[in-house]
Amino acid sequence: MNINSLNCPICGESSDKHISIDLHKCRECSLIFNVNCKSLSYDRDYFISEYQGQYGKTYIEDFGSAAGFFLKAAKDKGITKLKGIEISDFASDYCSRTFSIDVINSSFEDAEINDKFDIITSWFFIEHLMDPLAAIERIYTMLNDGGVFAMAVPSYFGPMFYLNREEWIKTHPKDHRIDLSPKGAEKILKNTGFRKVQVVKCGYHPERVVSRKNILYKPFEMIYRIYTSITGFSDTIEIYAVK
Ligand SMILES: [Zn+2]
Repeated sequence: MNINSLNCPICGESSDKHISIDLHKCRECSLIFNVNCKSLSYDRDYFISEYQGQYGKTYIEDFGSAAGFFLKAAKDKGITKLKGIEISDFASDYCSRTFSIDVINSSFEDAEINDKFDIITSWFFIEHLMDPLAAIERIYTMLNDGGVFAMAVPSYFGPMFYLNREEWIKTHPKDHRIDLSPKGAEKILKNTGFRKVQVVKCGYHPERVVSRKNILYKPFEMIYRIYTSITGFSDTIEIYAVK
């Protein structure tokens, strides 16, 4: 597919539903895409200062990221054949040196890998790509039959977008191309060929909807817990897909 940044990066259609000047919604794919997405340079500076500015902590402090903490956790669980792909010299070097895990220092698109895997994970990665569909399709081909793809992504189907829209727009990262939703994620992955897709809420913050001091907080929290478990209503989601 020819990537036109004005069109939905999944189905290729343009959208008339504008959330803001840059953020458009594709009803077909149940996602929001950024028509003015700008890739940042993921050099040492990004991982130290820009990351901290955006997320309030340094990259190394963010357990579960591409500096190799997740790979290390997998290694600790006894998984021996491990491989990382990391665009930043700094982060990939950190992982190889600190955990002695094999890391290809490259963008995912340019990484030469011919192996097949039982598990592929991408934590907050595909939203940074201009062509996220190509990455999902490639991951599908890199999996063995019955293999699992696990990913985490920002989702617009969450409290921030529905209850604090202005803030959501204002703080939307400039280098994020898409925000998925549970419904959209399931559709996209099933269209790619995955047999089974499960979406799980990543964050859980009932107190951001109703204050803990409110006398209705307890009954609300009970209902909110059930609602978010069934629907995946959360600002970030985890998706598990079986090939
Ligand atoms: Zn679309």
